[in-house]
Amino acid sequence: MVSLGEPKWRGRQLAEALYHQRIVDVEGITTLPRALRQKLANEGWGVGRPRIAQIFTSVDGTERYLVQGQAPDGLTVETVWMPEGDGGEAGDGTDDSGSVKADSSSSSGRGWDRATICVSSQVGCAVNCQFCLTAKLGLQRNLAAGEIAGQVVAVLDRQGVEVGKDRVNLVFMGMGEPFLNYDNFMAAVRLLVEEVGLSPQRMTVSTSGIVPGIERFAEEPPEVRPKLAISLNAPNDLIRSKVMPINRKWPIEAVVDAARAVRLRTRERITFEYVLLGGVTDQPEHAAEVARLVRRTGLPAKVNLIAWNPGPGIAYSMPQPDAVETFRRTLAAEGVPVYLRRPRGRDIYAACGQLKRTVEG
Ligand code: SF4
Repeated sequence: MVSLGEPKWRGRQLAEALYHQRIVDVEGITTLPRALRQKLANEGWGVGRPRIAQIFTSVDGTERYLVQGQAPDGLTVETVWMPEGDGGEAGDGTDDSGSVKADSSSSSGRGWDRATICVSSQVGCAVNCQFCLTAKLGLQRNLAAGEIAGQVVAVLDRQGVEVGKDRVNLVFMGMGEPFLNYDNFMAAVRLLVEEVGLSPQRMTVSTSGIVPGIERFAEEPPEVRPKLAISLNAPNDLIRSKVMPINRKWPIEAVVDAARAVRLRTRERITFEYVLLGGVTDQPEHAAEVARLVRRTGLPAKVNLIAWNPGPGIAYSMPQPDAVETFRRTLAAEGVPVYLRRPRGRDIYAACGQLKRTVEG
């Protein structure tokens, strides 16, 4: 608005119209004078939210969306709606009891009592984790702040979510490495907190371990700082460097050191995400090593286990169910809080590490 020669407070009115009233055309913003609306339209400005171009629905109720990015390239990104969450994130600073209902019945009558939205931060990804389909795309481009926040608003609208009333968690764990698009990612978080009214304590951002990003994140004020998850995925540097080549640049100790600077809220914990790869990272001795590693950090932490979801062209195998259970039990016996994330939407390629279809068309 300032760049258009308008007073700054016109920007506030615009934000109010976009995010509170969720108006989808310039003409509808009646708080702005008619002449200004006309000027905006004449200059080609538009408002609205990203269009959901395609929807895939899983037998488990999960929905995967291809969300249209901004022109000119019109690339789509992927956003996932998981009714009843996936057992890994409570999102409100409390423990997730893991007692997620087996069926999708709910007291609300809508099919869900709580839900998690998995949000993308980039089109593709440059990090190259060996188990991840998104990595195969390489990085196409960063998403703008409006495109990141827009995914959330589009899904809130589609699902009829009442902000402030419904229990909805956000996980920034979709396509991309949020900390390699740091400014836009945090600008999106601020929009979602300050304009949409979502709580940062119900948001979790997952990083592959981008140390400069974690250092910046540690400086964010608690009013807008989501919770932090570190994608660990291996018990030691040797294995991690093979599974996640980024580890050669920032090894585990450097990542943990950076995470120590985050001033945690009461009862907040850092999450270590751990993808179990059959025969590679899922052995009992790996579990014991992870337990030692987590304890050694001295951080209030929990571990989220994810059984690897298969994808074409990736030479790993799924862990055996009994290996998963042994791993979980070993961590629990060592006193490490551990949760097993349910695979959601595997049949529609919506599960962790499977987001890729976008650019393939
Ligand atoms: S797991 Fe995340 S950081 Fe790693 S390649 Fe996939 S999208 Fe990128």
